[in-house]
Parts: sequence; C-alpha cells; structure tokens
Amino acid sequence: MLTSIAGKSVIVTGGSKGIGKGIAKVFAAQGAKVMIAARGEDSAKLAVAEIEAAGGTAAWHPTDVADWTSVQAMVAATVGAFGGVDILCANAGIFPQKKMVDMSPDDWDYVMSVNLKSSFLCVKACIPIFEAAGKGRVVLTSSITGPVTGYPGWSHYGASKSGQLGFIKTAAMELARYGTTINAVMPGNIYTEGLQDLGEDYLETMAASIPLKRLGAVEDIGNAALFFASDEAGYITGQQIVVDGGQILPESLEAIGEI
Ligand code: NAP
Repeated sequence: MLTSIAGKSVIVTGGSKGIGKGIAKVFAAQGAKVMIAARGEDSAKLAVAEIEAAGGTAAWHPTDVADWTSVQAMVAATVGAFGGVDILCANAGIFPQKKMVDMSPDDWDYVMSVNLKSSFLCVKACIPIFEAAGKGRVVLTSSITGPVTGYPGWSHYGASKSGQLGFIKTAAMELARYGTTINAVMPGNIYTEGLQDLGEDYLETMAASIPLKRLGAVEDIGNAALFFASDEAGYITGQQIVVDGGQILPESLEAIGEI
C-alpha cells in the first residue's frame, strides 16, 4: 500500500484521451486533483465529466504543449485552481507514421516539438513551483519505440521518445536540489484512441506478438505513473520502466510461437 496522494495537485498533459486519460483517472481515483491539459475542448470536458461522475476532482485547461506561452499558462491555471503543482505527468504526444523518404523536415520538427521539446517546456514551467515547495514529481510518457525497438515510419517518433530518456538523466540531476524526481514510463502497445487510428490489422498483429497476449490498458500505464509519483518512489530518479506485457522480449517469431 503506497502512501496516499489524496489532495495532491496533478497536471496530466494529453489527459483528455488515451493513456493520459487513464493516468488522470487512476490519480483521481486515489483522491488527487487533476488538471487535464490538451487542445481539444470536447474530449477534455468529457474526461473531466467522467472523473467527476466517479467522485473525483478535475479541471481542464486548453494547452498546446509545444508552445511555451501556453505551457506557462497551463501551470498558472493549475496553481490558481488547486493551489500548486505536486506532480507533473508530461504525457501528450503524437505518432504520425511516415517513412523518411516521404518525411519533410517540417514533419520531423513538428513531432520533435510536440513529443520532446514539450517535456522540457513542461518541466521548466514547473521548476519555480517545485523550488518553492522543496519537492515535486515528474513522470514522462516515453515509449518502447525508439529506446528499445524500431518500426518503419517512426524514425522521428522513435528519436523523440529516446530523446525524452536522455533528457531525464540530466534533468534528474538539476531537479534534485528542489527535492524533485523525474522518471519515465515506456509503454508498449496500449489500446487508445490514437492506436485505434492505426487500424484493426495493426492492433491484431501487435496483440499476437505480445507474450501476455493482449494490448495494454491505459490503467496499466497509470499505475506505473502512480508508483513513480508516490512517496515510496522518492529515491528513484532519472530512471525508466517498460510496461509492455513482455512485448520486447521474444527473440524471434518462433519464440513467440512457443508460448
Ligand atoms: P492519443 O490517444 O492520441 O491521445 C493523445 C493526447 O495528447 C490527447 O489528449 C491529445 O489531445 C493530446 N495532445 C496531442 N497533441 C497535443 C499538443 N500539441 N498539446 C497538448 N495536448 C496534445 O495518444 P496515446 O496513445 O494516449 O499516447 C499518449 C502518449 O503515450 C504519447 O506520448 C505517446 O507517444 C505515448 N505512447 C503511446 C503508446 C500507445 O500504444 N498508445 C505506446 C507508447 C507510447 P488534443 O489532440 O485535443 O490536444
């Protein structure tokens, strides 16, 4: 049993859908106050309504995580609504699939900016809050794609997700003086709105290649984020955990067939 996070203020970027919504619901179910940061109003309001209907506390703030002014406003709105920021879950990300031969330099820059630059912006905007409090928690959503595996069409995405892991090594050292930890969850294939867009064939092939024989649930990632945000994880920083049902383990198709 982890020490309660009830009453803590949590920002979840990309909390309106998919993994972020799962993280938001897991934290809200533990009594945390959740700020959902995303661009789209309808899905964000729906996420807030679902959390409130389950007895939780949530609000949303229109945010583009790739934009510094917008990210600063997100943090200010959270302080205004909940009195501070105890936990930042920098989760928002995109995964448009395009092979390098078709990828433009602007395509590359856009993915880097939403997936990687955003990690820096969100953490930077929270530093004054963590410094004043003398404590804080940051959990990034990275991926197995990039740091561990590759997939045609995701060279920019994989680079951005590996970049997040590089970022947390030095960020952990710089945040230590504020009593703040930063860690990353590396999901495998998790059943989300974004993943559904890749089509049924993709989902079926992926589920078959996972030793636990199912796609991950968003709560699987929420629970890992919850652990990193807990008091009990206070001596872990600059680290990452793979949550993938064993997806990265098989050495060959024969290996998965043996199960
Ligand atoms: P999703 O279902 O497409 O949801 C993405 C969320 O991010 C939405 O709430 C979206 O809301 C928000 N978002 C996108 N661009 C944004 C921006 N510029 N500013 C603010 N919010 C933005 O995606 P997901 O599958 O849950 O993925 C979430 C994270 O998990 C990503 O970082 C992804 O790389 C990572 N991940 C996912 C999987 C998987 O299998 N699903 C696996 C590994 C890693 P708006 O569009 O309304 O802004």
